[in-house]
Amino acid sequence: MSAAVPVPVHTVVVDGLALAQELREGMAREVAALVARGSRAPCLAVVLVGDDPASASYIKGKRRACERVGMSSVEHKLAADLAQDDLLACIDKLNRDAGVDGILVQLPLPKQISANQVASAIDPAKDVDGVGPWNAGRLLLGEAGLFPCTPLGILEILDRHRVPLEGAHAVVIGRSMIVGKPVSLLLQRRNATVTMCHSRTRDLAALCRQADVLVSAVGVPRLVKADWVRPGAAVIDVGVTELAGELVGDVDFEAVQGVAGLVTPHRRGVGPMTITMLLRNTLLAHRQRTGA
Ligand code: NAP
Repeated sequence: MSAAVPVPVHTVVVDGLALAQELREGMAREVAALVARGSRAPCLAVVLVGDDPASASYIKGKRRACERVGMSSVEHKLAADLAQDDLLACIDKLNRDAGVDGILVQLPLPKQISANQVASAIDPAKDVDGVGPWNAGRLLLGEAGLFPCTPLGILEILDRHRVPLEGAHAVVIGRSMIVGKPVSLLLQRRNATVTMCHSRTRDLAALCRQADVLVSAVGVPRLVKADWVRPGAAVIDVGVTELAGELVGDVDFEAVQGVAGLVTPHRRGVGPMTITMLLRNTLLAHRQRTGA
């Protein structure tokens, strides 16, 4: 008997930018309606410590995104050699500012500052990046809360493309607090069976081949090869790494065409959805705080 020839799969390439724009248009209408009813616009405060050009560019993108949906934003740019107590004092001020709905401290932070202590200092009701222990606990408990934006964006992409999650085997590579762990919990909430992988996982390729949904949040260029992907699987590429002046994802995007059922490109994929979920969390925080 001859070996079965694999049937090529039609691969849907996710247009994360188009999806993000559609969601942002809806949010812009919601914000306009809030303002028309006499409420102030939701406000996001972004804190940048130091002068890392990538971080500066990310916060510029966030400011523009706020403006485009009619939200306001304030920026606090602090010196790279700032003492942790001074950053905590800045956060305390923002916590007490009734005009601020969301607080985001741009990562990475300089060595003298503990990201965990900073995350713990943010008022949970304003923790729109979902980085603090209160919201992390709510996620673990299966309660409502403000959850990290990239995982929320991933779930939105999967839902919009009607990827079945109930009973599906989801394999998540990466176990960070900002992507890997929260996306695993969100997938479990949706009754997926989740396998979490990391740098010490044995035979990663074999585990990935079992996935109906494969999420890679690592930062190793083209780690996920075509023969790691089960035909028809949904592949979400979160990784973004600069390689020889070019941004590269975790997934060998070209090679998985005709194998994956769905794949996110590393540009116009998960990234625009992350900012969109930040806007959604800010709107949610505003509604919860003001009752608007
Ligand atoms: P991180 O905190 O550095 O975590 C990386 C994870 O990958 C760790 O759990 C690590 O395992 C695991 N890992 C490293 N090398 C591995 C390997 N060879 N095989 C299997 N697992 C490996 O990173 P992150 O903050 O989660 O971000 C991950 C990537 O996503 C980065 O490229 C980042 O730039 C990108 N990102 C993109 C967006 C977006 O919106 N597009 C948002 C956030 C992050 P250990 O735990 O064992 O060390």
